[in-house]
Amino acid sequence: MSPVRILIVEDEPAIAETLVYALKDEGFQTEVLHLGSATLAVMRERPADLVVLDVGLPDISGFEVCKALRRFSDVPILFLTARNSEVDRIVGLEIGGDDYVSKPFSPREVAARVKVILKRVKPRQADQADAGEFQHEHAARRIRYRGAALELTLSEYRLLACLLEHPGRIYTRAELLDRLELPAEIYDRSIDGHIKTLRAKLKLVDAAAEPVQTHRGLGYSLKAAW
Ligand code: CA
Repeated sequence: MSPVRILIVEDEPAIAETLVYALKDEGFQTEVLHLGSATLAVMRERPADLVVLDVGLPDISGFEVCKALRRFSDVPILFLTARNSEVDRIVGLEIGGDDYVSKPFSPREVAARVKVILKRVKPRQADQADAGEFQHEHAARRIRYRGAALELTLSEYRLLACLLEHPGRIYTRAELLDRLELPAEIYDRSIDGHIKTLRAKLKLVDAAAEPVQTHRGLGYSLKAAW
């Protein structure tokens, strides 16, 4: 496993240094930036696993950086706020921050918060794809629906894994058949059969929900969760 990379955006060198020290001590890799504007470019080029983001930066505020980051990244963000103000904390979390630490703080506290956040957001990273209520654990070839592990046949698993790649996208029967890697002589109908049994299993978790949608004459899609 590659080491977890933390991007620290903090204009005060002394504070940045103590953070680097505390985070390295916990086995994290770190990179320090002093300006908000540089953060976006760096995150596009070499995305970090978490961003420690000072609110009071000299060029653009940490809040603005967070807003811009959220347009293309769901990286966890831990705000560093100088003021112990309720407003800053609320704004920070409302615009997509994961947590905040008020200055002055102990670097160990920051490291501890980082670990908590990483634990919490793990499902949306690395080896898992999360389409709303589904979690796909690729390595285990297991798909959870609302937390419940589904007991799927290989064909059902491949079908659902395919639909999960792009919730909302309609897959034709031919595309889905392709994914099943079944012999060519098997008809489209078999897709309908697998979808039927897959739906029955999803209904065991929630009888009212219909996450798999039929598009007549086109194919199937997974209901987009957002
Ligand atoms: Ca600052």
